[in-house]
Amino acid sequence: MAWVLVVEDEASVRMGLRLGLEGRGFRVIEAENAAQAWPRLAECDVVVLDWMLPDEPGVRFLERLRKTEAYADLPVLILTAKAREADRVEGLERGADDYLTKPFSLAELAARLKALLRRSGRKKRLVFGALVLDLEAAEVYLDGQKVALTRREFDLLAFLARHPGRVFDREALLDAVWGVEYFGTPRTVDQHVAQLREKLGSSWIETVRGRGYRFRGEAS
Ligand code: CA
Repeated sequence: MAWVLVVEDEASVRMGLRLGLEGRGFRVIEAENAAQAWPRLAECDVVVLDWMLPDEPGVRFLERLRKTEAYADLPVLILTAKAREADRVEGLERGADDYLTKPFSLAELAARLKALLRRSGRKKRLVFGALVLDLEAAEVYLDGQKVALTRREFDLLAFLARHPGRVFDREALLDAVWGVEYFGTPRTVDQHVAQLREKLGSSWIETVRGRGYRFRGEAS
């Protein structure tokens, strides 16, 4: 089962996409704008991105996504208005993997998403010995037991675990997990790290004094 992140500001289109894709075996995560979409990227396998968003142009969002190491190879299909051929060309040049013009057929969208998923070699599970992250189901297992995490705890852990050994400062983590529009403080990150350590044990996420945090697991 694949997770699709639908980024679309028109509620009726979003609803149609949800029903159409769920009816064809996908799981759907909805976002109304770029700010909502950014923190959900870690959970999805493919993105359907409306090119005209209220808070950030699709082109800017896609650029930001491609520059972020964890999402550099995340498949993205853009939705553009029929009249604007220039948008499709720009989208493909800026890193979109495919496009559809509105109005489109849900059957065709589903077929294209399946093709994108077949071509993408992204990992669905991260295994670090006793710790397993199921990126598709957004679930974490420790010694075979499922650990109940909040959405943000999972996102933070998944982001760190996608880059084992790499140090991220709190600002970078806020940006990656909560999104640039989020008015959180570095303390928010500290709190979530503390919660993760309480649930998973203290050995997985290391504090690097004066620099930030890093994930300690070794992929197995
Ligand atoms: Ca729109």
